[in-house]
Amino acid sequence: MNLSAQARQLIAEQQKNWELARQNYAGLKSVQTRKLAFDGFDITVQFNPERIRSSAAKVDAGSIEARPCFLCPHHRPAAQKSIPVLGKYDLLVNPYPIFPEHLTIVHIDHIGQLIAAHFWDMLDLARMLEEFTVFYNGPKCGASAPDHLHFQAGNKGFLPMEWDFKKGSFFQDARTKNGMDMIRWTAYLRPVFTLSGKNKEQLVEAFMRFYHEMEALQSHEPEPMLNIIAWCRAGRWTIHMFPRKLHRPWQYFETGEKQIVFSPASVDMGGVIILPREEDYRSITMADVQDIYGQVCLDEQHVRHCALVVMD
Ligand SMILES: [Zn+2]
Repeated sequence: MNLSAQARQLIAEQQKNWELARQNYAGLKSVQTRKLAFDGFDITVQFNPERIRSSAAKVDAGSIEARPCFLCPHHRPAAQKSIPVLGKYDLLVNPYPIFPEHLTIVHIDHIGQLIAAHFWDMLDLARMLEEFTVFYNGPKCGASAPDHLHFQAGNKGFLPMEWDFKKGSFFQDARTKNGMDMIRWTAYLRPVFTLSGKNKEQLVEAFMRFYHEMEALQSHEPEPMLNIIAWCRAGRWTIHMFPRKLHRPWQYFETGEKQIVFSPASVDMGGVIILPREEDYRSITMADVQDIYGQVCLDEQHVRHCALVVMD
């Protein structure tokens, strides 16, 4: 049985035998969503109160040190089962789902959320989980456990950007080198740089070039601020990088009417905005969305610079 099928079996098993998963997957079926129609693409807004844990997670060093790590095996609930993957990860069912099928893939060791040494693994996971989209949230880009390396995965066909990629309407600079496509998107609210190809070494090398260009701009950060969404189809990987410059927008820290509890991560970059508070879900406007993406995403000119270095 391939890993996608095993993962689906685990989701079914956990919904039967783990009360928290059963409740939250049942709750997801009645979750409210609405669509914001931008020029040529849609953004879905999802009201998901269970995600408050992630959106409002305290990720400063003091808070992280003071809490037990919920991804470490000895702190996980007894009912939470896992599938060993690649000899160094545990595949788990995410008990606070956004996707109808939502996984967390956790490194077996308590090591920091840093992508450079593990990007290769991310591509392996995307290939093994062909029915899923795999994503990575940087330590200051939406990860609620920045101290424990993990990826997430959700069923394909859920993120609006999958269609937007197929349409290709927002592609600006595009180049193909030895079978690998490199594409920079524009006019899409959030800048995206995409790599697509079949040669893993070539993809990793291109990713690292982009990483190092960004690193030069953000030398004060533990790693360049990134959300990454990757999938694999028939041996061809597609990797979308969303360069960031800010963890959370000013609205997050407001109180009263100006507050919007929106802490952008990969899923939001992929076109599904998760709002855990009903008042935000009701009141958020297209102008708010545009403003928040503008605050948290790296400026287009910098993304362009990094992308052109890779394409050169
Ligand atoms: Zn841990």
